[in-house]
Amino acid sequence: MTTLPTRAVAIVTGGSRGIGRACARILASRGLAVVVNYVSDEKAANSLVAEIGAAGGHAIAVKGDVGVEADVMAIFKAADSLGRLAVLINNAGVVDVVARVDEMTVERLNRMMTINIIGTFIPSREAVLRMSTKHGGKGGVIINLSSVAAKLGSPGMYVDYASAKGAIDTFTLGLAREVAAEGIRVNAVRPGLIDTDIHASGGVPDRIEKLRDQIPVKREGSADEVARAVCWLASDEASYATGAILDVSGGR
Ligand code: NAP
Repeated sequence: MTTLPTRAVAIVTGGSRGIGRACARILASRGLAVVVNYVSDEKAANSLVAEIGAAGGHAIAVKGDVGVEADVMAIFKAADSLGRLAVLINNAGVVDVVARVDEMTVERLNRMMTINIIGTFIPSREAVLRMSTKHGGKGGVIINLSSVAAKLGSPGMYVDYASAKGAIDTFTLGLAREVAAEGIRVNAVRPGLIDTDIHASGGVPDRIEKLRDQIPVKREGSADEVARAVCWLASDEASYATGAILDVSGGR
């Protein structure tokens, strides 16, 4: 049976919707107190907190932009009030509207890199400060949400997003080795096409229908299917896995 550190705390950035929501739900069901971070959809975050509470778990919703240092500090302060941080899921991520590189503005690029890359670095820094045995911590697990876009490059769609996810893969390898002897495992999950709101956010609500035929298994994935992989990597069953990048992409 999968065991996770109980009576410990997990932070899920972007936990209000999609893959993050599924991760928060499953981690709470395994006994962790969960910080459900969100940036704008308070209703979604609160509904998940209520759902987790009704199922006997514990969660709180904390608003904050992962790309803003002061917000991240507030998210971690809220987590500290619940107990010992054991798991960080760096899930918050954004795409932008479909564009070629020769159309991309600096404003777009700054937003893309700030949320997707710096928004993974700052929470990870704060997690290491709490988890590392070097800093008096008891260890922990960090899981980063990358994307198969990091392998494919997403030409004609969003090379900026794909590049940011490439950075997440490299970050995973580097941080994993940096803190491997300090009780922290760092891994990434690379989802393929998953049925969430993110495609509509990029202005292509029918993106899954358009690309389904290109997926070797001929179907999109669900947020739960990604969350189960995340949960496995967070569990003791993955005790020797660090610096791993796991594709959950139906073969894509
Ligand atoms: P989603 O359905 O669009 O949900 C995004 C979540 O991130 C929401 O909870 C949103 O909060 C939150 N968020 C957005 N910007 C944020 C910010 N600056 N600070 C804090 N939270 C923020 O996305 P998803 O499809 O579940 O994607 C989750 C992760 O998986 C992302 O990193 C994405 O790149 C990656 N991924 C997704 C797919 C896919 O096909 N869906 C494929 C590969 C990788 P609000 O609810 O408040 O807006």
